[in-house]
Order: sequence, then C-alpha cells, then structure tokens
Amino acid sequence: MRICYVVAMVAEAKPFIERYGLKEVEAFFAPLPCRLYEGEVNGSILDVVLNGQQNGSDLVGCEAASVATLSAIQKLSPDLIINSGTCGAFKGNGASIAEVYIGNGVMFHDRRVPGDDTWGTQSLGNYAVWEGSEEMAKSLGYKTGKVTTGSSLDMQPCDLEVIQKHGGQLKDMEGAAVGFVCSLLHVPILYVKSVTDLCDSGAETFEEFSKNLHQACETLREANERVINYLTTF
Ligand code: SAH
Repeated sequence: MRICYVVAMVAEAKPFIERYGLKEVEAFFAPLPCRLYEGEVNGSILDVVLNGQQNGSDLVGCEAASVATLSAIQKLSPDLIINSGTCGAFKGNGASIAEVYIGNGVMFHDRRVPGDDTWGTQSLGNYAVWEGSEEMAKSLGYKTGKVTTGSSLDMQPCDLEVIQKHGGQLKDMEGAAVGFVCSLLHVPILYVKSVTDLCDSGAETFEEFSKNLHQACETLREANERVINYLTTF
C-alpha cells in the first residue's frame, strides 16, 4: 500500500516527518515548489508531499494544494491521499481547540457563482471522501465533520451563510481543492484535521490560530500515527 499525505504547512507536517524519520527526495517535483518526504511504515510506503514555499512562507490555499495533489498522484500513484492539517471549527458544534476530526464530506464555501443548478453544484464541490472514513473514525474514537474550504483565513457573513446551509464544520483553505483533484483521478481521499481556532469564538482568527498552532500540530501528529497504524495493519 502506498499512502500519500498532502500537507500545506511545514509546522503541520514536521512532527510526523520526524516521528517516522522520513527523508526528503530532493528536487523530486522540480521546478514545482512542492516537496516530497518518503519512508516506510509497517511494510507500506509513506509519502508526505508539502505544497512548498514562496519567499520563505508556506504556500497555503487551493492553487498550491491542487498542484501538489496532481503532481503527487501522477508521479507516485498512491492508493490513498490523506489531506491533513489545521482548521477552524465551531464551538456551537461542540468543537474545541486541538481536537482532531475525520472528514465525512468536503465542499467549497466561497465560490459564489450565479447560474444554473449545474453551475451551483459544481461551485460547491461536494466530493466523495474515502468510503472507510466513518468506520475508521469510529474505531479510533474521533468525531467526524464536513470539511469546508475557502481561499481566506477570515470568515465573511456570506461564507457563514453557505457553511451553515450546507453543514460545513471544519473550515480550511485546501481540503476541497485536494478532493477535486482526487475526484478527477479516482483516488480515494481521507481528511485528518486538527482545530486551531473557533470561528464563532469572537477572537481574532489569526491570533487564535497562531497561539494554538503548536498544540494542534501535536494532536495532529498523534492522530496521524494512529491513522497510519490503522491503515497499514488493516
Ligand atoms: N501566514 C500564516 C498562514 C496560515 S493560513 C502562517 O504561515 O502561519 C491557515 C492555514 O491553516 C491554512 O493552510 C488552512 O488550511 C488552515 N486553517 C486553520 N484555521 C483556519 C480557518 N479558520 N479558516 C481557514 N483555514 C484555516
């Protein structure tokens, strides 16, 4: 089995790259910015693809995530893509900081395109997640929620409206882009997300995100170890 993570930020990936002693395969995606770390766990190949950096900062967001996912699938042919990282969530849904969720659906919340039904449906995304996601979450004791993706860290009232209408719970900036590419190439996708901020807490999002990033990345590493163990001893 070949498992490939697609991760946006170094801070999110570093704890489990180190935990598994994954080695960077230099210039694997050159001239693209994405980076590959590789190793073996329980007889399976474990790849971690980072979106990469520009001017010293991580390339977060849909465009970089799409490029990374497409290149990863075409060059590595993984059996499963895992999009793992941090997210915002809602305390109104019972979420708390550094809590880990498994995605049970994925959509976009900031693509406001008027037009016919087909266009509206396409804008929302709503791609399928790996069919074993719910069962794995249950077996490992994690909550599940719908990933909702947009291009901004903040949340405008029009974003919230779409999120509420379509049941979004885990707000990020990459999930649906990764899901879109996986849907095109028929590769199953699993989402593992850890909460850095609560979108309905009233706090300034970036401050809350920065304050909790380290803690959320630690619970993310723990969860990913359990996920990898589950998948490779399946
Ligand atoms: N300049 C910041 C960028 C962080 S952007 C930095 O380098 O520290 C936030 C990242 O965390 C994105 O990759 C996104 O997927 C995730 N994220 C965490 N909380 C989020 C929220 N409330 N809304 C959208 N994305 C969020």
